[in-house]
Amino acid sequence: MEKNIAVIKGDGIGPEIVTESMKVLDKVAEKFGHKFNYTQLLMGGCSIDANGVPLTDETIAACKASDAVLMGSIGGDTTTSPWYKLPANLRPEAGLLGIRKALGLFANLRPCLLYPELAGACPLKTEISAKGFDMLIMRELTGGLYFGARKTEEVNGVMTATDTLTYSEDEIRRIAIKAFDVAMKRRKKVTSVDKANVLDSSRLWRKVVTEVAKDYPEVTLEHMLVDNSAMQLVKDPAQFDVMVTENMFGDILSDEASMITGSIGMLPSASMNETKFGLYEPSGGSAPDIAGQNKANPIATILSAAMMLRYSFDMVKEADAVENAVSKVLKDGFRTGDIMSEGMTKLSCSEMGDKIAENI
Ligand code: NAD
Repeated sequence: MEKNIAVIKGDGIGPEIVTESMKVLDKVAEKFGHKFNYTQLLMGGCSIDANGVPLTDETIAACKASDAVLMGSIGGDTTTSPWYKLPANLRPEAGLLGIRKALGLFANLRPCLLYPELAGACPLKTEISAKGFDMLIMRELTGGLYFGARKTEEVNGVMTATDTLTYSEDEIRRIAIKAFDVAMKRRKKVTSVDKANVLDSSRLWRKVVTEVAKDYPEVTLEHMLVDNSAMQLVKDPAQFDVMVTENMFGDILSDEASMITGSIGMLPSASMNETKFGLYEPSGGSAPDIAGQNKANPIATILSAAMMLRYSFDMVKEADAVENAVSKVLKDGFRTGDIMSEGMTKLSCSEMGDKIAENI
């Protein structure tokens, strides 16, 4: 197969970690007989330096013309970088919000996987972390409380603030379909998280998710209240496969789930629209403290490329090969600085990329 990939290396460690991800993709292409064509684009701080704005129409058009986008991270040191003296709409992060909007990316997929080899980095009790876990949080990204009407006003002499939580059936249906589609490629279980004992929007959420489930008889659906979900995540994370939820609940639960895996350098993510198109990036930022030192952990970005193979290109064997290569390298005792522990072999960013590519 031939695929066109838009590549946004970005700022800070972005160029280093994306280069390693492309190294692994090239190895996949060689082994499985595919061709990946890359178009390198600017976004974030590097685009501000070159074009005066964090995101150009050319970058948006090139992303739209591609089969998927592979991204590093954008932004700089928010206290010292001159980018943060600019108005908010011209700062690096405005590029990120702009591209998500321009590409209609309403579904955020964040797998949270605790590798048995890294169980020591998990802050949970040993009897829980020893079991490991492998779940994916699907967060609705463009609706709900963060996008509803808001106002602050004086009512009867008292300052009063209002935010509005609105979801339409269509918005719920499209994210539910995404969740069930992803569950079909995993362990076939969906946990839909809501607050249906209190909120109307959650009652509609539960009704629509239940309707969508009828088209996926192989997938087990359970509903869970958000407060219970927060508890269950630290009590028994291994029970979850795909967790689907609205914007604010997902914001909070995905950070909780990331935290219990132990390292930000290990966590990939994807943002998708209704089609198979997606933008794939690590969960962490541009790490200006270690940029340019060949120290960053490229695994999150390499696993983001694996997600691209799985979800945008339907290359399941190839995605498995990348994920298995990461597991093998960890089992063999290789680590970057952020996940280093006694007795392991420390690798640079590029050496870690080499090792993973060798194991494809
Ligand atoms: P950060 O994630 O960049 O860094 C937090 C800590 O984690 C740092 O100590 C860093 O060295 C470490 N870290 C992050 N990724 C790592 C990796 N792959 N390997 C090893 N260590 C890693 O968060 P921050 O310092 O709050 O933000 C720095 C910049 O990144 C800011 O400009 C912020 O706006 C931006 N940011 C961008 C994105 C994105 O591009 N999607 C996301 C978050 C933050």
